[in-house]
Amino acid sequence: MDDRFRIHDQLMERAKRVVPGGVYGHAVLAPPRHPRFFSEGRGCRVKDVDGNEYIDLMCSFGPNLLGMQHEAVERAAAGQRRLGNCFAGPTERWVELAEALTERIAHADWAMFQKNGTDATTLCMTIARAATGRRKILLAEGAYHGAIPWCTPSAGGVLPEDRAHLLYYRFNDLDSARAAAREAGSDLAGIMVSPFRHDAFVDQEMPSPEFARGLRGICDEHDAVLMMDEVRAGLRLARGSSWEHLGVEPDLGAWGKSLGNGYPISAVVGRESLRDAAASIYSTGSFWYSAVPMAAALECLRVVDELDLPTRLEQNGARLRAGIHGLASSHGFSLRQTGPSQMPQILFEDDADFRKGSFFAEDALARGVYFHPFHNMFLSAAHTEEVIDECLERLGPAFSALRREVGGD
Ligand code: PMP
Repeated sequence: MDDRFRIHDQLMERAKRVVPGGVYGHAVLAPPRHPRFFSEGRGCRVKDVDGNEYIDLMCSFGPNLLGMQHEAVERAAAGQRRLGNCFAGPTERWVELAEALTERIAHADWAMFQKNGTDATTLCMTIARAATGRRKILLAEGAYHGAIPWCTPSAGGVLPEDRAHLLYYRFNDLDSARAAAREAGSDLAGIMVSPFRHDAFVDQEMPSPEFARGLRGICDEHDAVLMMDEVRAGLRLARGSSWEHLGVEPDLGAWGKSLGNGYPISAVVGRESLRDAAASIYSTGSFWYSAVPMAAALECLRVVDELDLPTRLEQNGARLRAGIHGLASSHGFSLRQTGPSQMPQILFEDDADFRKGSFFAEDALARGVYFHPFHNMFLSAAHTEEVIDECLERLGPAFSALRREVGGD
């Protein structure tokens, strides 16, 4: 780290004495010379602890859908905070939010609330098993669904038994899903899938209609439960369920991240046929009734509709994508820009070790643009056309620096 990160480095030294590893989780995923500690943020601009300011193209890995400190959301949260947050049971917000989700998501006849995406994906699997009385769940190879033993990407402390009834298929490969379903046989409880393949390190893949319909077909044929992990993509691709444009609705949806525009809340929504199974499970957490995040989520959903946000994000994402394409070509680089433009993944050709991507991300950081070299980015309502253009202005010199680094200038 250089002088730009003086306070940061001191803080990391202190952290390492009192927190295992200093920081853990997705903050560790960032390139070595990216800041881990932040101090403030507004809209899509964040400051690290040294006061360096960045346009955040990661939206804190998703949650900041409307931008940080969004006025209307903060007003709603503050109004609820004045009344109280954490009671022995829920408030009226609980019912209002369940009503709002069942109104907007076609397959949702009911909703349940938690805190994290992992809570929601795990509850989906429990409901699928409770409803079917079966054990096997199919997951896409390499897909991220959370950080507890059944799904965490690391091996430490994980037992084979934690994953004993999980079988794997490849995203967009219906034959592999059919083979896994055959292996599960009469013990197939359900299939979990994300709206698109948004794995880190690789090109993103949109689902083919055949794949989406095929998974639906397998579940229908086996009376199994189709679960959609909307935690990362939810509300950026569509107003309701992310596969609604394909005419495919899952039976259960796991939502999180952007639902409360940064406030901790996640949800499971489901079909009528799964209501009794969902009600049969003892599912709770000390903070799951918290009313402030629910007030924030209600307002967040209202603003998403007011702005027709998925369309706006798609358009501004397309502007970023086209601008980056132009800059890359004029500097002699080939890029693979994949995934929906609202959540772009940008990988350099001939960059298996991510050296070009990492250099580019670090140089861009020094110019005030924060993103990740091999994890999808996220756009928010605060990334206006002007902000996108400002990013592009800063990224031009980053491409020039990369050109000098790899030679040929
Ligand atoms: N599913 C997906 C697709 C995710 O991207 C994430 C978080 N990155 C999770 C589940 C887990 O969510 P959380 O970190 O809130 O537990």
